[in-house]
Amino acid sequence: MTDATSTLDNLMHEERAFGPSADFAANAVADASRYERAKADRLGYWADRAREVLTWDTDFTETLDWSDAPVAKWFVGGKVNAAYNALDRHVEAGNGDRVAIYFEGALGDTTTYTYAELTAAVKKAANAFESLGVAKGDRVAVYLPMIPEAVITMLACARIGAVHSVVFGGFSADALRSRIDDAEAKLVVTADGTWRRGKPSSLKPAVDAALAAPGHTVENVVVVKRNSEPTEWNDGLDKWWNDVVLTASEDHAPVAHDSEHPLFILYTSGTTGKPKGILHTTGGYIVQSAATLKDTFDLHPETDVYWCTADVGWVTGHSYVAYAPLVNGATQVMFEGTPDTPHQGIWWEIVEKYKVSLLYTAPTAIRTCMKWGREIPDGYDLSSLRVLGTVGEPINPEAWMWYRDVIGANAGKNGEKKEHPAPIVDTWWQTETGSHMIAPLPGVTHTKPGSAQVAVPGISIDIVDEMGESVGDGEGGYLVIRDPWPSMLRGIWGDPERFKETYWSRFDGMYFAGDGAKYDEDGDLWLLGRVDDVMNVSGHRLSTTEIESSLVAHDKVAEAAVVGAKDATTGEAVVAFVILRGSAEEGEDIVTELRNHVGKQIGPIAKPRHVLVVPELPKTRSGKIMRRLLKDAAEGREVGDASTLADPSVMTKIAEDMRK
Ligand code: ATP
Ligand code: MG
Repeated sequence: MTDATSTLDNLMHEERAFGPSADFAANAVADASRYERAKADRLGYWADRAREVLTWDTDFTETLDWSDAPVAKWFVGGKVNAAYNALDRHVEAGNGDRVAIYFEGALGDTTTYTYAELTAAVKKAANAFESLGVAKGDRVAVYLPMIPEAVITMLACARIGAVHSVVFGGFSADALRSRIDDAEAKLVVTADGTWRRGKPSSLKPAVDAALAAPGHTVENVVVVKRNSEPTEWNDGLDKWWNDVVLTASEDHAPVAHDSEHPLFILYTSGTTGKPKGILHTTGGYIVQSAATLKDTFDLHPETDVYWCTADVGWVTGHSYVAYAPLVNGATQVMFEGTPDTPHQGIWWEIVEKYKVSLLYTAPTAIRTCMKWGREIPDGYDLSSLRVLGTVGEPINPEAWMWYRDVIGANAGKNGEKKEHPAPIVDTWWQTETGSHMIAPLPGVTHTKPGSAQVAVPGISIDIVDEMGESVGDGEGGYLVIRDPWPSMLRGIWGDPERFKETYWSRFDGMYFAGDGAKYDEDGDLWLLGRVDDVMNVSGHRLSTTEIESSLVAHDKVAEAAVVGAKDATTGEAVVAFVILRGSAEEGEDIVTELRNHVGKQIGPIAKPRHVLVVPELPKTRSGKIMRRLLKDAAEGREVGDASTLADPSVMTKIAEDMRK
């Protein structure tokens, strides 16, 4: 098992593998030549992609300038407007009537925007923001629900060169204020509110509370009327969207911005600590996000209907909702609601209604659907689905297989199965990386349940040991990126030292992402969770992911989280928290059964000392499990800062049960 060089034990072995069907491969956007070209000439490859996916106002003269490392400059000398690329150029090309956004509101109301309509809407917003004194380089805070105005606002900012900072609508007034202050935002764009589980849920009061104390930089607050709940009105600041945007002129000429002009700041979700304002710039970010959407999802913009379920408050909602689909001229679905309202089949109803062909979601959503049972999706016709994506956490092999069998193989509500289920693309990347870094090409790569497979063409991923040396096949270690990439972060807003310290100080000359990973015996890559969560049991370094995957592989378990808790004999002991599937029963038997199951599947070393059955796990608002809080509970400590949890009461309950 462990030897001197391995930094993480390789516990699980996967035999199942699925290749692309001949038909899929023959029609795929990306073939194996992508890898060959990128391998032969990495910078040349990115220069080609940059000219393929974007219309540059002024062509670039140098692909990469790394002289100021670790701050990169990509496509130097190039000038480009992101909004023009996402909008006007499709209209100019005669595709103005193509649907850009099918919007499904939380109450079942719908709106459709064609490319011509969306372009006009963004031009109005750009004019309105300029008339409110927003100029190139100014920061705009965006605090909106999942409605088209969020995308319109982001693109209007990009058009005029203002830097947007989207703050997730679920965050508190305090979180909003600290982000407004950090970025010194001049304008806030918000809404009166939205709906959650069919009930009105307000946003504007949080903005009012955030701006109540003096000393802020905000000059105007533009308010979209969405749920029509009454709201306080601050005459000095507040303006209705309808009054300033809808009345503005539809003529607005885009100006080309420097390739390195700041595009946005996005504060990371805070799974591990104090949020960091991640800065992205224009050219490289758009090139890599557009190129990866095209390749990873095999996007055919004329025929596909794409749906990414991520909120615009997260990076996935930036790269793969607001920018890449539109830059590629695709048609996408946008959904304001939650997967359980008005019923647990709503997602599948939407897939059936719009004939969604490319679906992008997170493992947490897949596991929730597993818990609810396959009867729900089985009741819909999901035969339009061609590619299924996942992002955000490692996907357990069992959840991957469920996604494939239940969603990807569905050939209609009569229960027939597709001969070739939709391929699954597991995409590893971060707020900091801006776009996909590890992902299969669905027309080329053989995929394995649970593996993110291989680096994206043109991306230099590696796994290294403590000393920074590459580990071999079958071994685990630290996931690093060896060469700069187009959509890499350009820094942490206002804190260049923290940027170097956080990402570039662990290994010389390499970006260290904070995640553990392994190569399997075939050289395929597996993500093993955050290195901070690694457990040391009797000298073995065990990742959380593999033990969790083993638990989820048990047919009574829907979700699992494991942590290491101090133990007098073994250093640390594995403690597991599990959510059972709808039909399973709690009790002593299940605990013993699960302990033995892990012992048998992985080995006695990984056998949990404790298994606690829980109704819910502590998750961030983007659906990620916060293991550090579970560790506090497992070690009998006061539970740490739980303010970024979607539902803080979950942790109170677990801590109580733990003390019993
Ligand atoms: P913070 O950095 O503030 O703690 P965060 O890391 O959760 O928050 P994100 O940038 O949204 O914020 O998430 C990136 C992380 O999510 C990765 O570092 C990795 O741990 C995890 N992740 C994303 N996609 C995958 C994937 N496909 N497989 C495994 N892990 C993934
Ligand atoms: Mg992170």
